[in-house]
Amino acid sequence: MKIDSAPKWLQEAEIINEWPRSPQGSASPTLEGQDLGKIPLLTHIPCSKSAIEEAHRRKIRVLIYAAFMDTLYGGEGYTGRPLYRDKDADMLLIDKDGRFMNTVMDGTYRMNRYLVCANSKKYLDKALDYVKSLMDMGADGLFIDNVGPRESCYGHNLPVGYSQRYKTVIVPWPGMKKQYDKEINRLPVHKHLYPNKDHNYAFARFLEKIRDVVKSYNPENVVILNGGGLPEEGGFAQYGDGTMIESFICSWAWNKRQYTYTSALKMVEAYKDYLARGKVVVALSYLGYTPYGINEDAFYCYVFARLAGFIWADGYTIGNNQAKVLYSVKLGRVLEEAKEKEGVFYRVFQDGIVALNDSSKVKNLRVNLPKEGSANGARDLFSGLEIPLKDGFKVPANSGRVYLFLKSGNKKEKNGSKK
Ligand SMILES: [Zn+2]
Repeated sequence: MKIDSAPKWLQEAEIINEWPRSPQGSASPTLEGQDLGKIPLLTHIPCSKSAIEEAHRRKIRVLIYAAFMDTLYGGEGYTGRPLYRDKDADMLLIDKDGRFMNTVMDGTYRMNRYLVCANSKKYLDKALDYVKSLMDMGADGLFIDNVGPRESCYGHNLPVGYSQRYKTVIVPWPGMKKQYDKEINRLPVHKHLYPNKDHNYAFARFLEKIRDVVKSYNPENVVILNGGGLPEEGGFAQYGDGTMIESFICSWAWNKRQYTYTSALKMVEAYKDYLARGKVVVALSYLGYTPYGINEDAFYCYVFARLAGFIWADGYTIGNNQAKVLYSVKLGRVLEEAKEKEGVFYRVFQDGIVALNDSSKVKNLRVNLPKEGSANGARDLFSGLEIPLKDGFKVPANSGRVYLFLKSGNKKEKNGSKK
C-alpha cells in the first residue's frame, strides 16, 4: 500500500528544530546540556550512529541531511551526497551544449559542484544505496535539501566518462563532425530511465523511490523536503511527508518582517489542500534581524505558523532568550480553526489559544471558548501573567501571543513560568 500522509506523530508536532550548533556554525557533538523542551524531532543531525542513539535515548526522532541536486567534486568528509568518483561521470547532468553544469548557488557558479542527472539509472542506484547506508544507522528519515525544478539533461546516449589515456573525464562536443579518437567509443554511455520525459518528471520518480526506501525501514519514518513547491504549481512537495518554508517571515536575508498575517492570507490558503492530505509544512524563521527583537519576533512567527497549521522551527536563532519557553509548549489538538475577530486572528487548541494582532494598535480579543477548551483562566506565556478569561486577551500591536489555559485539577501547569 502506498503511504501518502505523514505519520500521526509528525502531524502532531508543534515545534521541530535542527541539531544544536555552536555560534560558529559547527554541529554540537552531543545533546548534553541542551534544553530541547518538548521538541520531538531534530533535523541536520551529525551523520553518526552515536548521535542518533543519543537522541533516541531522549525520545527525540532524527533526520539526516541529504541533497540530490548536485555532487561535490573532490569533497571530503560528510557532504550529504553520494560520493562522487570520476568513474561515475556518466551520472552528471549534461547541458544542451554537451557540457557539465556547475551548480548555481546564491547567484554564483560554484566550481566544486556539478549538477547530477536524476534521469540517470546510475545516479538513482547510487542514491538509493546511499540512502540505505544512512537508514541502516537507525535514522528516522531524511531532510532533503535543494528540492526544486531541475535543469534539463541532454546527455541521453552520449558517451561520457573517465579516459585512461587523457587521465580526465571527457565528453564529446555535440557539434563535432569528425571523431578524432576511438577512445570515445569505449566510454560509458549516459542513459536515461525515461528518455521521452523531462527532468522534472524523472526527479519526481526519483523522490518517490527515495521515500519508498525510507518507509521500507519503518512506515513511521519521514522525508521532509526543503521547498519543492506545491503540487498545484507543478512542484514536488507531495513526494515528501512535509515541506519546509525557509526564511519564514524573519530571515538573515532581510531586516523587517516579510509579511503580516493579513497580507499572507492567500499564501496560507494555498497550503490548505496539502495539509488536508495529512502532509506537514515546517516554517523556519531566522530570528534576530528586525527592530522588534528576538522575543517579539519568536512569538509572532510561532503564532503565525500555528494559525496557518504549520510546524514552527527557529534553527536555534532564539538563543537563550525568554522566548525559548516556546520549546516547551504543547497546545494539543485543534478545537477551532483560525478565525478573525475584532482585527485579531486566533485559533483555539485543547490547552491554549494563539492570537496575532498585525495592526499598529493594541486590540482586545474576547472569545467564547468551546466547551472542551473551557478553563478557569489563562496565562500569557509572553509576560507570565495570569488573566481572568472574562477580561479578554489584550494583544499588543504587531505581536503574537500564546495563552495557556489554567484548568482546574491541572496544577502542574509549568509552561507559563517566566525564565
Ligand atoms: Zn541525463
